[in-house]
Amino acid sequence: MSDPALRLSGIAKTYNPGLPNEVRVLRGIDLAVQRGEVVALVAPSGAGKSTLLHIAGLLDTPDAGTVAIAGEEMQGKSDRRRTAMRRNAVGFVYQFHHLLPEFSALENIALPQLANGAPRAEAEARARDLLAGVGIAERADHRPAALSGGEQQRVAFCRALANRPALLLADEPTGNLDPATSDQVFGALMALVRDTGLAALIATHNLELAGRMDRQVRLEAGVLHGG
Ligand code: ADP
Repeated sequence: MSDPALRLSGIAKTYNPGLPNEVRVLRGIDLAVQRGEVVALVAPSGAGKSTLLHIAGLLDTPDAGTVAIAGEEMQGKSDRRRTAMRRNAVGFVYQFHHLLPEFSALENIALPQLANGAPRAEAEARARDLLAGVGIAERADHRPAALSGGEQQRVAFCRALANRPALLLADEPTGNLDPATSDQVFGALMALVRDTGLAALIATHNLELAGRMDRQVRLEAGVLHGG
């Protein structure tokens, strides 16, 4: 079998070690997410799911343990290599879209590709394809403020996938939407993920959405169950 898109081994993280306000957030997390697999990360608030996603997405480093993305161990790699992997191999979606307000939907999706050296025409063509894939091709020239919450989040998905990552990480990607919109936007996300065959780790409080993914893992008291 090929390497998983994400492998976490023995990940531990403690905030404020040795101080009265020490928090042992992660106590030895093991998880593999295979290519084409969509895993739900279910956790009560404060359980450490953002910390875990940030470590998996190379935005933070663990105190112990290793992260491998698409078979490449990231332990001990230079900042430059970690940045390159974060840009190319990982797509991130947050609860709030974090789109750049002064740019159109199309430009927001083209920018990460341009930063990676793609020619403008190619980046814009891919952005249009992605927007069509989530059903909002006609919104390409709108700025985020002129889009609904669900549309903004669809654009954020497209931006996360723009550079064809091996792994999508999402932190409550529909947590800010009403239930009906959340359901539609989640459907669009799943269609995109299935189309591209990439791996995804998606944190959600919503057990109904979690049930629509391939498998669920639960983070509680620093330990991952079902991983
Ligand atoms: P979740 O995303 O599950 O709500 P987080 O990963 O954000 O949880 O946080 C887990 C725990 O770690 C919480 O108790 C939080 O207060 C604490 N925490 C998070 N970041 C920091 C930090 N930078 N310094 C100290 N404590 C932190």
